[in-house]
Parts: sequence; C-alpha cells; structure tokens
Amino acid sequence: GSCFAHVQQAPEDPILGITVAFNKDPSPVKVNLGVGAYRTEDGKPLLLNVVRQAELHLVSDESRNKEYLGITGIVHFNKLSAQLILGSDSPAIAENRVVTAQCLSGTGSLRVGGEFLGRHYSGQKIIYVPSPTWGNHLKIFPLAGLEARTYRYYDPRTKGLDYEGMLEDLRAAPNGSILLLHACAHNPTGVDPSQEQWEGIRRVVREEKQFLPFFDCAYQGFASGSLDNDAWAVRRFVGDGGEVFVAQSYAKNMGLYAERVGALSIIVKEPAVATRVESQLKLVIRPMYSTPPTHGASIVTLILSSKKWFEEWKEELKAMADRIRSMRHELFNALKERQTPGNWEHILNQIGMFTFTGLSKEQVEYMRREDHIYMTLDGRISMAGLNSRTVPQVADAIHRAVV
Ligand code: PMP
Repeated sequence: GSCFAHVQQAPEDPILGITVAFNKDPSPVKVNLGVGAYRTEDGKPLLLNVVRQAELHLVSDESRNKEYLGITGIVHFNKLSAQLILGSDSPAIAENRVVTAQCLSGTGSLRVGGEFLGRHYSGQKIIYVPSPTWGNHLKIFPLAGLEARTYRYYDPRTKGLDYEGMLEDLRAAPNGSILLLHACAHNPTGVDPSQEQWEGIRRVVREEKQFLPFFDCAYQGFASGSLDNDAWAVRRFVGDGGEVFVAQSYAKNMGLYAERVGALSIIVKEPAVATRVESQLKLVIRPMYSTPPTHGASIVTLILSSKKWFEEWKEELKAMADRIRSMRHELFNALKERQTPGNWEHILNQIGMFTFTGLSKEQVEYMRREDHIYMTLDGRISMAGLNSRTVPQVADAIHRAVV
C-alpha cells in the first residue's frame, strides 16, 4: 500500500476555491466577484501597457542573461522599492537604516519577515492581526514561529472601524508584541483608519506598548489612486524614528500577480544594526528558496527607474483605481434605484479592491445557487470584478437575497 494512504483530502483554499467552483459552473451569466484581481470593463485581466513595454525591452536586450541573483535579489530594485513606499526623500534611507530584500510577492515578503522575527525578535513572539484579516496571515505567521492573535478591527454594526475596540485590545496586549497593520485598503473589509485614528494607533504603538509594527502593503496606489497617499501611514510610523517592518507587493498595483514580485523592508534605528540584520536575513532566505527570480523584478526596476515609464504607470494605476471607485457608485446607485432594504453607504465609504457587503453566509449561498454570482462566504465582493453590464445583474441578485 502507499505510504500516504492515510493522507486526508484537504479542503479547498476558501478564496482560490471560489474560482474552482466558478469555473465548474456552466451558466453563461455567471459572475465571479471572489478573486482579488483587477478586471477591465470587459471583465478581462489587464496587462498594463507599461509592463508590456518593459518586457519587450527586456527580451530585446542582448546584454541580459539568466545568472543567479544574490540572495536578496536585485540591488537597484530593492532601493527603488524602499523609495516607493518610504518616499524618495526618506531620512531612514539616507541614514542607511533600511534593509530591503526582494521576495516572492507580498506573501513571500510576509513569510520571510515572519521567519526573521521568529528567529531574532527580542520582544514577544506574538503577532496581533486584525479581525477579520486576509486569511493567509493566520497561516503564515504560526509557521514562522510566531503566535498569532487577533485584535478587534471591523464593526459589523457600522460597517466601519471599531476604533475603540481596537485600542482597547492593543492596550491589553503584552508590551513588545508585533502588530500587523494593513497599510491601506484593508482586506477583506475595505475599512481603513482615518489619519487621526492612525495617529492614535501610532501613539499606543510607540508610547504605550513598544509594539513592533509590521505593515502589509499589498495595494499601494489602489486605494486612493495615489502612491503617496496610500503610503501615508507607513511613512508616518517610519518618520517617528521607530522600527518598522513592511511587506510590499507589486501583484495588484502593477498587475504582476503571477510574476511574484515584492519586497520586505526592515527599518531599524542604527546603520550598524541594519548591516547585521541584512546578514541574518540572508541566512533566513538561503535555505527557503536560495535566491529570488529575476524577470518580474527586472520589469519593476525598469518602470521605477524611468521617469517616462513611471509617469505612465501612475496613470494606468490611477485608471484602475478610478474604475473601481466608479463601480462603487454604480452599485450603490443601482441598489438605491431598487430600494433595496438596508443602508448601503458603506459601498461608497470603503476603499480599495473590496466591499465587505454585510451579506450573510446564507445570502451569499443563495446568490451563488440562484444567480450564479460568486463571492467569499464572508460577503466580500471584488469591486474590480464588476462592470457596467454586471452591476444591474448583481444589484438584482442582492435585492432578491435581502428582501
Ligand atoms: N496581503 C494582503 C492583505 C492581500 O490582500 C494579498 C493578496 N490577496 C497579499 C498580502 C499577498 O498577495 P501576493 O502574495 O500575491 O502579493
């Protein structure tokens, strides 16, 4: 018999599993609002023009080869990524207090950061993540040797931030814990703290609890359409001189999902510490995957280092953010027209790729069964998956599900 006969059938990943079910559905009117990937008005994946240009440049450049990169990836990519998130005038960068490693998109950056903390963090090896959060956080950090606990974040009554609950939970957490924060466009709720609330959180982190903030930045530019606005909270925390971890992903903002391009930056207080941290970071990465891949990071490096392409990218990024925002208005108006019971203002107020609709599991299942509309069981819908054709269809279905 097989040595693996005892292996149990594992459940499908809750998010990726939706696409599996969607693909099996033969209905011609089916709509997938489950995936966290941008779609055009025609419902198609988007390859940014600037990415296409950079790729054409790469393949026609005969001086290029496929030699191994160093353990932390492309040096120039790392510098540009740190500048993108921290600001090109960041004192932390100028003072050589930033260590950056090219990693496998956001997920890989979180994992490498988690592994480093599991080995070297001198505070509490406990990471507090918001409730709810992107489901993978709860899997990544325990595997890296950190205990994961949650803090209150979303208030289902207001469909906004439970700011008081959040601060209460943070104050009750052990001093020196690690605090995971979504830099912008919180997934799955689309609810972000205001600047004033960020400031309150920062004071608890720095002045009351000596937490280590770990920012997950998967949507820079996607929330507001502006790269700088969406980096506001990260820059504020780095700007006070304290230590910060930040995981960046180019999956959404450059549409490089499958290329797995991201970066982990560790901002410390002294350049000498940064040098030693970098040396240990290499020891974390080397036995995991040795060195990162070159193609996607080369694309990003070209775009970030060319003034012309950088400007083009910002335009394409803003167009994606604008289309998502216009879908918020269309869906909100469609529900208003139908006089669908309930207050749907949160569709307008939440930001980023997702709306946390407040639909119950039963309503979600009803919409899947009756209307072939797919979303996660927590009622999260991808606004990027909507278009002018599907908005009326989705609004009709939501209306039937709630009445
Ligand atoms: N963090 C959050 C909050 C996310 O939503 C995602 C993507 N769904 C990621 C990290 C990681 O994505 P990737 O590994 O594709 O960059």
